[in-house]
Amino acid sequence: MAIDYWGIKEINTKKYLPYINGFLVLYIYALDLFINDFMTVLGTWTFSFYLFAVLLVIIVSPITWRKSDNNLVWILRLLVLISLITISLTTYSPFVFFLYYLHTLTIIFFYKNFREFLVGTALLTITYVITSFINPVLRMEAINWGFFAVFISFLSVHLLHNQKENNKKLRQLSKIFKIMLSSTNNGIQFIDAQGHTRILNPAAEIIYGRCENDTSGAYDWELYYKGRKFDENGKYTSLITETLETGKVHKDDIRTFIDKHGKQKTYLVETFRVYDDAEKEIMGAIGIYRDISEQKEMERQLLDAHYEMANMAVTDELTELYNFRYFRQRLPTEIAKAYKSTLSLLIIDIDFFKKYNDLYGHLEGDKVLREIGGILKESFRTTDIVARYGGEEFTVILPGMDKQKAIEVAERIRIKIKETSIRGEEKLPNGKLTVTIGVSTVPSDAKNAEELIKLADNALYRGKNAARDVVVTYEEGSYIAH
Ligand code: GH3
Ligand code: MG
Ligand code: MG
Repeated sequence: MAIDYWGIKEINTKKYLPYINGFLVLYIYALDLFINDFMTVLGTWTFSFYLFAVLLVIIVSPITWRKSDNNLVWILRLLVLISLITISLTTYSPFVFFLYYLHTLTIIFFYKNFREFLVGTALLTITYVITSFINPVLRMEAINWGFFAVFISFLSVHLLHNQKENNKKLRQLSKIFKIMLSSTNNGIQFIDAQGHTRILNPAAEIIYGRCENDTSGAYDWELYYKGRKFDENGKYTSLITETLETGKVHKDDIRTFIDKHGKQKTYLVETFRVYDDAEKEIMGAIGIYRDISEQKEMERQLLDAHYEMANMAVTDELTELYNFRYFRQRLPTEIAKAYKSTLSLLIIDIDFFKKYNDLYGHLEGDKVLREIGGILKESFRTTDIVARYGGEEFTVILPGMDKQKAIEVAERIRIKIKETSIRGEEKLPNGKLTVTIGVSTVPSDAKNAEELIKLADNALYRGKNAARDVVVTYEEGSYIAH
């Protein structure tokens, strides 16, 4: 998880201070020697001692800064302390005292708590005062520099203390932030002002299918969009890059994405926005998104179920044609739509079907009903509505079709069914399985759905009374068999 980028530098005071202190000692000490005793002490034992003590401070003091309580470190700390005290006692410079003071204080402070820091300060102040009395020549100078040293010590220690506290808070914040980033199911992404991926939380990694690779520093489009910043339409492939470069804010967008397994995923973009600092300088862009693929899939299944239910409600189970209810609903609508135009209705009844059932049983009869249903379904236009009227009767709404054309169509169907070979039909009275069809038309015969059905039904009845296997229409008060 590339989330260790904060753009914030934690200043490690512990690391640098001993060196600064050590070199300050050397510098001041050399200065002190040069001004006061340089010519006289050069080459003497005192000089060698100075040099030794100074080197000891520089080399050993960084070791004493280590956070360790083992005896060796304590011995070294003691050595540094003794060296510093000795130096300050043997030279006539309060500068050394000042440094010794600062150095020791900070050591005490960083290893112990504030109370001990105050105790240390008091002890050192006493040492300082006693030392200046032992060396009366320097008393006045020592008093002046001493106050200055105490002031500087406090100031520096105070600043260091604040810095340390800030570092601690920063670490805590960073920890909390990491926990938050790792625990949420939302994908969170942050790219810097140059477009490099800096934060990609685990959820985002899963979304992108990138868990195993380190993504930090890479461009978003390089990682997830096959290295193409723009698609074939010249649009940004990566939303977050688009946000960074154009300032465009995305909110509540739904996006689809092909993951590395080639699976299409759907995401809800909660927000994509640029992120600026106090000076309004753009620092980068932040993206938060949520995988809603499962939710979408559920919605789709629900919708499918809904359609299936709706379909079931209008479908006849046996023949898979529309059912009577649907037919009754649609007919008035279709008649209304055919206003100023025409519409015909066919009612088709199988001849001697009772006989067929008696001969072969209901199950065989059902097969025939399905077969006839199939023939009807494939014989009409998609705009025609073919339904099972009930029992072994079917009906067809033919929008836009006049009577003459409807008779032709009905005839064609009658012949088609007759010519279809049906198992066992030879034992039927006609020697073939046939149908009788009643035809009626609006507006020429009827004005509304009820009249239209009634006339077609009557025509059918006439056909049954005649020879059957016939198409019958109602024309100007009489029924005509075709
Ligand atoms: P016709 O129409 O030529 O006057 O004679 P028919 O024997 O077909 O008479 P009718 O139209 O009154 O027939 C109704 C018969 O259709 C009764 C029943 O045996 C059969 N039938 C109705 N619904 C079904 C069904 O769902 N399955 C089967 N197998 N038969 C059915
Ligand atoms: Mg019937
Ligand atoms: Mg019948």
